[in-house]
Amino acid sequence: MPPGTGNFDTRALQLYDSPFMSVPSEIDTLRFALNASRLSGAIELRDMTRLHDLLSSQVGVVRWWIEGGVEAGRPVLRLGIDAQLSLICQRCLGPCSHSLHSETALPIARDEAELRQWESEDPLLDGLVAEPHQSVHDLIEDEVLLSLPVIAMHDEGACQPVQAH
Ligand SMILES: [Zn+2]
Repeated sequence: MPPGTGNFDTRALQLYDSPFMSVPSEIDTLRFALNASRLSGAIELRDMTRLHDLLSSQVGVVRWWIEGGVEAGRPVLRLGIDAQLSLICQRCLGPCSHSLHSETALPIARDEAELRQWESEDPLLDGLVAEPHQSVHDLIEDEVLLSLPVIAMHDEGACQPVQAH
């Protein structure tokens, strides 16, 4: 077997994909998009403090991935999140499980002026201004907050019975 082949490369790949490999805490959003970079990881729910008031349990993780690219001539970050959450039902205040799966494409403008121009071309556009030190944690936590139902509630008839006094 020639040198440089065999299971060495495979092992290097496995290391790269390892969930234990540290993920950068910040990305340069425009460069990330233009370089078509990819990143994935998981964040513990207990570390997502802005979610805590909405959760009946902080046990679990949010799995996420970010992929850079260019769509319709605009640099974009494609963001995916996947989590099993226990929310608080606003009718009976009991725990209400909620599967969160979301994929969003966020166009990354060079500056405010470019973002305003894109928004005038496409009123539904949901973009961001380029940020050289964007916290990955904040980006994912924002996306989770935006993806939650406005009012968490059990299906009709599925609420827990009111406790007898
Ligand atoms: Zn309920």
